[in-house]
Amino acid sequence: MRETKVMCESCGSYLSLDNALFDEHVEVFFCQDDCLYEWADDHFEEIVEQYKSFRVYAG
Ligand SMILES: [Zn+2]
Repeated sequence: MRETKVMCESCGSYLSLDNALFDEHVEVFFCQDDCLYEWADDHFEEIVEQYKSFRVYAG
């Protein structure tokens, strides 16, 4: 069985899908918390927008 590999959006390294952190709102993968935080720093406005629309549609 082939392992599904995904790329960490922050550091660009490949990891198994089972070990990846997945943000379903922006549909990106991260290999560890640090990478998520680093990416979030650079995409702060994007995340806020996503969160806003999520909140709106969630009622
Ligand atoms: Zn990473």
